Amino acid sequence: MTSQKIVVCGGGGFIGGHLVADLLRQGYRTVRCVDAKPMNDWYQKFSNAENLQLDLRDREACEKAVNGMDVVYNLAADMGGMGFIELHKAECMLTVLINTHMLLAARAAGVERFFFSSSACVYAAEKQTSAAVLPLREEDAYPAMPEDGYGWEKLFSERMCRHFTEDFSIVTRVARYHNVYGPYGTYDGGREKAPAAICRKVIAALRSGSGEIEIWGDGEQTRSFTYIDDCLEGTLRLMSSDVTEPLNVGSEQLVTINQLVDIVESIAGVRLKRRYKLDAPKGVRGRNSDNTLIRQRLGWAPSITLETGMREIYSWIHEQMSSQTRRRVFA
Ligand code: NAD
Repeated sequence: MTSQKIVVCGGGGFIGGHLVADLLRQGYRTVRCVDAKPMNDWYQKFSNAENLQLDLRDREACEKAVNGMDVVYNLAADMGGMGFIELHKAECMLTVLINTHMLLAARAAGVERFFFSSSACVYAAEKQTSAAVLPLREEDAYPAMPEDGYGWEKLFSERMCRHFTEDFSIVTRVARYHNVYGPYGTYDGGREKAPAAICRKVIAALRSGSGEIEIWGDGEQTRSFTYIDDCLEGTLRLMSSDVTEPLNVGSEQLVTINQLVDIVESIAGVRLKRRYKLDAPKGVRGRNSDNTLIRQRLGWAPSITLETGMREIYSWIHEQMSSQTRRRVFA
């Protein structure tokens, strides 16, 4: 198995970087890592992987990325947290170029398996209007009314995977990730997601002595957050399974944003005054993952608690903010 040649697209990013690290740890000898960002900005970079800087919106770049490879993990996307996707809908939708050209290139190269990272943002908005949300089952993506921009692109690309399988016999696997968090990811600059943003804000409040924190919305919106180790395990299990339909890869531990802040405050040993910014981008009112199908099909579901995972990301962000330069893995 470890003789399979694997390319990870978006490997300079958060999840892709962890995936490359994990594949190398497992002993895969040929791992290619592709990202559009300059390599100095990759979160993790490994000298025993082949590292390429390519813009995968271009068909030729996709051909270079898949050349000689058996397996493709396509995680490359122009994305971020709510603050980014609500204000950059066209940019999010342009990721369709990456997925389209990657599928075409994979078909031409005759790759064995193609993984696509979809998102809980594909779920219909009307099923997420209450904080006391019913967990989302895979079938709840239809009738379609996903998150505008980003969610439409993900749903379209999911279906393209399905039809490439049906019409061109390419083996595809699709995961719907639910809010993945962990070290070696974005925690500032506008693309960060709630867990990283809250850690950064709590640490900044401690450092400045301001005693207060800004929260987007009223803090009562609900979410579940998936620790990176669970995300990776779900990805690898799904990829080696015979499951052809999209599967949720998400935690079922539902919390309000206020409860997430409580957890970070208890890790930091502080209580802060909360200032609610009601006009900030806040996304759907409630969202949780229903893991019935993944349990049935893979005999497994994410299980790492938020309290455990948040300790890891908090201490990594704390270390980043305490050092003069960004610490990345360059191994
Ligand atoms: P990330 O932004 O850290 O990684 C994505 C990477 O893709 C970045 O390094 C970026 O430079 C690269 N990229 C963007 N445009 C590119 C292009 N034209 N050519 C080559 N590379 C390009 O994000 P992530 O959190 O690691 O997410 C990975 C995948 O998982 C994405 O497809 C994302 O939509 C999906 N996803 C993530 C989450 C989450 O909570 N992190 C949730 C749902 C889905």
